[in-house]
Order: sequence, then C-alpha cells, then structure tokens
Amino acid sequence: MSYDYDLFTIGAGSGGVRCSRMSASRGAKVGIAEGRFLGGTCVNVGCVPKKLFVYAAHFRDEVEEAAGFGWTTGEPTFDWQTLKQNKDTEIERLNGIYRRLLKGSGAELHEGWATVVDPHTVEVAYADGSTKRHTAANILVATGGKPVRPTEPGTDRAWISDDVFELDELPNRIMVVGGGYIALEMAGIFHGLGSAVTLVYRGPHPLRGFDDDVRTFLLDELRKKGMEMYLNTNVLCLEEGKNGAIEAMLSHEETLEVDAALYAIGRRPNTAELGLAAAGVELDERGAVVVDEHFRSSVPSIWAIGDVTDRVQLTPVAIAEGMALTETLFGDRGPQTVDYENIPTAVFSQPPLATVGLTEAEARVKYGKVHVYTSEFRPLKHTLSGSSERMFMKMIVEVATDRVLGVHMVGADGPEIVQAVAVALKCGATKAQFDATIGLHPSSAEELVTMRTRRPDD
Ligand code: FAD
Ligand code: NDP
Repeated sequence: MSYDYDLFTIGAGSGGVRCSRMSASRGAKVGIAEGRFLGGTCVNVGCVPKKLFVYAAHFRDEVEEAAGFGWTTGEPTFDWQTLKQNKDTEIERLNGIYRRLLKGSGAELHEGWATVVDPHTVEVAYADGSTKRHTAANILVATGGKPVRPTEPGTDRAWISDDVFELDELPNRIMVVGGGYIALEMAGIFHGLGSAVTLVYRGPHPLRGFDDDVRTFLLDELRKKGMEMYLNTNVLCLEEGKNGAIEAMLSHEETLEVDAALYAIGRRPNTAELGLAAAGVELDERGAVVVDEHFRSSVPSIWAIGDVTDRVQLTPVAIAEGMALTETLFGDRGPQTVDYENIPTAVFSQPPLATVGLTEAEARVKYGKVHVYTSEFRPLKHTLSGSSERMFMKMIVEVATDRVLGVHMVGADGPEIVQAVAVALKCGATKAQFDATIGLHPSSAEELVTMRTRRPDD
C-alpha cells in the first residue's frame, strides 16, 4: 500500500519539529500539522518567553546592587509594555526560523488542527474552513500538554501560565497557586518586576521531588527577599472584591485580597479531541499516550513523544526523543531509546535551583550508604553589592564506588554550572576526580572541586 507520507507529525513543538526535520532531511516524505504556533509551548508560552521575563525581573536587584560598586542610578522604573512587545518580536522571529527550518528540510507544513481518523489517516482542519485527509505509513503524536485549569468556584477569573505572556499590565498584587516549577518561576518574575506576590501551596514545602536541603534553602532565600508564602493552604474559592479585586477564601479561614490569581497546578497531555482512543490507541488515566521504550503506541503505526506521553516534561527530552525516533524509523541503527538518567534541570526562580542526578533520599533508597558534602557561602559579588543572598551546593556520593550520584544547588549561575556537571555525571565521575580537578578562581563553581568537609554520617 502506498501512502501520501512516510511520516505525518501532529504538533510542531520541540519534539515534533525535530523529528520531522531530521526525518525529512534523511529523505523521508514528511507532513506536519500545527494548529496554534510554530515551535510549540517552549517557544511561545514556555521556556523562551519565561526566561526573557526572568532576565527582566533580575534587573531590579542588579540596579540596587550597582551602588556598592560605585554606580549612581536613579529610582528604577519598569514598563511592562516594552518588555511584552520586545518579547513578542523575538518570538515572531523564532516562529519564522521554525518555518524556514521545516521548509528547508523538505517537510510539508499543514497549518490547522489535525485528528487521527485511523492507524494510517490524519484529517487536518485548515484555517479557511476546509478539511483534507492525508495517509501516512507512520503517524507521530507530538501534541504536548496544556495547563490544568482550576475548578473551584469563581476561578473562571483566574489566569493560567499561557495568560501571563499576553497581559496588558502588571498586577499590583498577585496570588500564585501551586508549588512546582511554573509557580516558583512565575512568583519570582512578578516579585522581581514589582508586584506583591503571595505563593499559596497545598503542601508543607514547594518543589516536591527535589532534594530536601535545596528546597529548604530556596524557601529561606525567597522569604528573605520578601515573598509571602502560605503553605499547607488550599484556595476554596475566589470572590469578587472591591474595585475589581479578587478575594481568595483560604482553607485556614483567612481571606486574601489580590488583583490577580495565577494557577500553576500542573499540565495535562493534549489528547482530548485527537481521536486516538477511537483509532485504538491506549491512553492512561490522565490522557497520556502509552508508549514503549521506542515511543510506539499500542497501534504499531502510531508513535508519540514529548509532553503528550506525560513522562519528563522538558524541552531537551522531547528533542532527544524526536531524534531517537527518527533513527528508529529512518536510520540504519535499529530501534533507539533515550537514557533518562542524569537529566539536568533548573527551576528559574530567583535565585535559581539547579540539579542533576539523584536526591539524597533517592540515593539512600537505591544505594544504601551515601556520603553527603555541602557548602554554603556568600558569593564574592555580594561582599560589595550589599545583597544578603547566599549560595548552597550539595553533592551526594556512593560510598562503595566513590561515584557522584547527584549535584544540587541554589544560587546565581546554578543552571549554567549544572549543565557542565551533568557531563561529568554522565561519564560516571568520582568524588576523587572532582577533587583532582583544579578550580577556576574566583568563581562559585570552584566550590564543587573543593568540597572537603563531609556531613557526619547518620
Ligand atoms: P509542545 O511544545 O507543547 O508542542 C505541541 C504542539 O502541538 C503545540 O504547538 C500545539 O499547538 C500542537 N498541537 C496540539 N494539538 C494539535 C492538533 N490536534 N493539531 C495540530 N497541532 C496540535 N522545559 C524546559 O526544558 N525548560 C524550561 O525552562 C521550561 N520552561 C517552561 C515554562 C512554561 C511556562 C511551560 C508551560 C513549560 C516549560 N517547559 C520547560 C516545558 C517545555 O515547554 C515542554 O516540555 C516542551 O515544550 C514539550 O515539547 P513537545 O514537543 O512535547 O510539545
Ligand atoms: P508541576 O507538576 O511541576 O507542579 C504542579 C504543582 O501544583 C505542584 O506543586 C502540585 O502540588 C500543585 N497542584 C497540583 N494540583 C493542584 C490542585 N488541584 N490544587 C492546588 N495545587 C495543585 O507542574 P507545573 O505546572 O509547575 O509545570 C509543569 C511541568 O512543566 C513541570 O513539571 C516541568 O516538567 C515543566 N516545566 C519545566 C520548567 C523548567 O525546566 N524550568 C519550567 C516550567 C515547567 P503537589 O506537589 O502537592 O502535587
């Protein structure tokens, strides 16, 4: 049987574009459908605009700290519209690059929403109202995820993370609900830009799943910076306050008055109206496509990568999966997998938290006895800047082999440092090898090769 395409991808996000481009450049006939924006979540409402906003939020501190270095600056003012417009211009530039990359690779772009009709047929609904069916030997579902919307009474007024990138103005007071990556990053952005932020988290301690010591250290740093936090707290409902304000009724019978409420309570796979279940594709209870280690779904011609599989929701992971799938489908090395060990990741809070490898708790479960090294210090910059911000680093080492199992840190440049450390962990570096490495002085990173004091064993 001959098909219109060797591969038809649904979703032009990080994973879908990478797999489509690489497959097309290897000679496969590739179609790709995108209903909303080229580059997907990361480029349009995720990593890229978020990081630009994080940079913007840092400048308040930078301006204040400049005085200690002899600079005289006036009272800083901030214009949200300038930031938003410059961000929009940059995102449009990136959208254009994605369009050119796809075109250059030979993949055919279909701008419209796609559904799966059967194991080898996709239907695209184009913006002009027309629809067309395309057949393909392989269908790739790379439709990503979307923010979970709150269901409590009155929360139809609340924002989700997508809304932050479209705001007309900054709120004076904002409540951020959640304790994950997005809540912490958005809280830091609004705080840095001048809004009064209250973080409301249902559990005792945000960032569940990260190493406990870095979580505690980050929380203390955020409190030092003046961020208000309500822990072990649920929002029961939102009500209309005076002059357009929002009154949030909290579980401990307190009312919080704010101008905006942002919910960052997780993301769900984008499969609701794709027709996958009808085509025989198994979905899990959250709607994620169930795939094997080679990204094949329960229907042999349908594959899925990235956030729609609800595993590790990170851009570089979606990209790695896209590259592995290209090799599986059109390469000569046979079915490929992705190694999910030692994935570096950062929460771009202020200060940021960066990590690679096992947490202390995970390492103890997996390896029994581990050695823990920590270092807390005031970065050189802050000896003159006047800032009380401190930096924290933690290393976990397997006793039996001396192998470094995890590196965790809170502080400026942590994400840049941890990306390089991830290479060492991938190579199985030992503590002795870290110690034998000469430091780069003066830097914060040199602490990692001079960590001599071990925490006393339990
Ligand atoms: P997506 O990028 O979500 O792409 C899916 C695409 O499919 C979308 O363009 C969508 O419009 C399209 N689509 C969906 N359904 C259809 C359909 N039926 N027909 C046609 N098209 C369809 N990760 C990091 O690594 N670092 C970060 O700093 C980071 N920051 C983030 C900040 C925020 C606020 C958010 C929300 C996410 C962030 N992430 C970050 C996560 C990262 O964005 C995702 O892991 C990544 O984008 C997943 O890529 P993907 O290809 O699986 O899906
Ligand atoms: P996360 O899964 O990281 O966090 C969700 C948070 O919301 C958790 O604290 C969770 O609490 C809380 N929560 C869940 N349901 C409710 C509810 N009904 N009411 C109140 N609180 C609730 O999701 P995010 O939305 O922050 O981010 C989604 C994913 O996107 C991340 O996991 C990450 O993979 C990716 N991302 C990566 C970034 C990066 O690399 N820098 C940045 C942003 C996103 P509890 O812990 O108690 O379950």
